[in-house]
Amino acid sequence: MSERNETTFKERLEELQSLFPSPVSDYSRDRHFAEHLAQALGKINALKGKSPILGAYVPPSYAEAVECVVDETGLGMDEVIAYLLSYCQGLVIPGHPQTQRNVVSPATMSSLVAVLFSSLHDANLCWDEYSQRIALAEVEIAAMSSRLIGFDPQESGGLFTFGGVGTNLYGIKVGLEKAVPNTLRQGLRGDKVVLITSDTSHYCRYITTGWLGIGADNVIVIPTDSSSAMRTNILSQRLRTALQEGVKVAAILATAGTTDAFGIDDIATIVAIRDALCAEFKLPYKIHVHVDAVTGWAWSVFNDYDFSVNPLRLPPQTIHMLRKIREHTRELCLADSIGIDFHKSGFTPYISSMVLFKNRIDLHSLARPQEQSPCLFQFGAYRPGMFTLEGSRAGGGVFAALANFKLFGKRGYQVILAHLMEMSQLLREKLEDSGNAAILNKNNFGPVALFRLYPEGKAALKLQRQEKHDASYRESLLHHNAYNRSIFDQLHRDAMAGQGTVLSLVDNYQTSDYGEPMLALKSYVMSPFTDAQAITSAAARILSAARQA
Ligand SMILES: *Cc1c(COP(=O)(O)O)cnc(C)c1O
Repeated sequence: MSERNETTFKERLEELQSLFPSPVSDYSRDRHFAEHLAQALGKINALKGKSPILGAYVPPSYAEAVECVVDETGLGMDEVIAYLLSYCQGLVIPGHPQTQRNVVSPATMSSLVAVLFSSLHDANLCWDEYSQRIALAEVEIAAMSSRLIGFDPQESGGLFTFGGVGTNLYGIKVGLEKAVPNTLRQGLRGDKVVLITSDTSHYCRYITTGWLGIGADNVIVIPTDSSSAMRTNILSQRLRTALQEGVKVAAILATAGTTDAFGIDDIATIVAIRDALCAEFKLPYKIHVHVDAVTGWAWSVFNDYDFSVNPLRLPPQTIHMLRKIREHTRELCLADSIGIDFHKSGFTPYISSMVLFKNRIDLHSLARPQEQSPCLFQFGAYRPGMFTLEGSRAGGGVFAALANFKLFGKRGYQVILAHLMEMSQLLREKLEDSGNAAILNKNNFGPVALFRLYPEGKAALKLQRQEKHDASYRESLLHHNAYNRSIFDQLHRDAMAGQGTVLSLVDNYQTSDYGEPMLALKSYVMSPFTDAQAITSAAARILSAARQA
């Protein structure tokens, strides 16, 4: 708002009112708002070119950032939008065919509209009084997702939370309450509590245990096999030892779709080990099994796909991979709780994450007494705020998930996921055919390829195996770590300059048998626009950067 001496306080207030959407039906003001939105969209769309980068990458100056102050007077809407646009420069366009950076799915138009609708009315899921039918949608999504994975929707219960980390936090917290009842009020009281998980589970195992007071040092980390799955015989030994020592187990945290390799744990075996040891030690509680399926959940749309009829006419190799994944997704229903990120593999924007409990009654252990939140919950039927960690929970994530379930149906998800897998497979083949690349997650079937490049030519895979297992290859491993980092640096510079493929770097994909980190490059195909041509040029760029490194 501009400073004009003659404007009175009341006039200024009226000007300010015009900056909000009209609270009542008002044709001209509503149209004004719609035009602003259309213009803003037009402007951000105009930043797109052919590259995966929006506008141009502008290196940030954090030193200047700390000089910022709130100005005495405000700007006009158009100026603010222009200002905002300048901050969108350099963003990676998630749906671009050359964006293969991470498990970040581009958002559908329907999910973006859903977020806007929810935000327009500040829907807050803490209480149905504050979100009305969007609260209903949370219950509906929990039921739909339960049916997808095989929980009984009459028994299950789901809550949206602040991301995949939040889903793990909830799963472990509920498990902690089972192992050490009433920590919510009385704390840990000196009990030694552990979390058991694999060495390729998400690093949030340390965040969650740290914040819950279990302590990051009390995470028992189980090694994984070549497919990044927890070695269940070692799980069995370590769990037995822990129980012999009288330690309490907050949870076993399994993963369905590790962040890098798309490794999936053997859920059935893990649950069987849990059952056997709980019985053998006559534990007064059942150790909670939470499955972090924030990336892998989406593949459960294939749980009832008839591969022999193959109505979508998926190619044989894709069917082979999908059958392998299905062996695992069909076991998700054995978990006590699972995490689902719609923003990871569900094509919604951030944040849209749900933790789903097989028995919603498990959530009762998190309930707080009404008198702790006197300003809320005096009436209404649905009051998740009585047991959620969050106070305000935006309705956008729920609404976006609902929009996409409705938009795609199972078929739509099947088509997109199958396509992503086919494209990722194509990249693996192109890299392998060159002889200069070793695919590290060969035993994992998902839309992600982890690879290391070797200038030596045809022996890449053999060399990589030797580096992994044979300490006399330490120099070679370190040399190729540096080589691959410089390839990545070049690819990243090119990508940021708008001429390339946006990939990721994984510092320590696996640790060699003699303790050195093995660095890897990562391509995660999540865009439905990535086609064979995009993959061919990505492979060519990667190999050309390797030749120049
Ligand atoms: C990404 C990821 C998380 C964390 O999810 P956020 O939504 O980023 O909080 C947890 N677990 C796995 C396996 C992940 O891939």
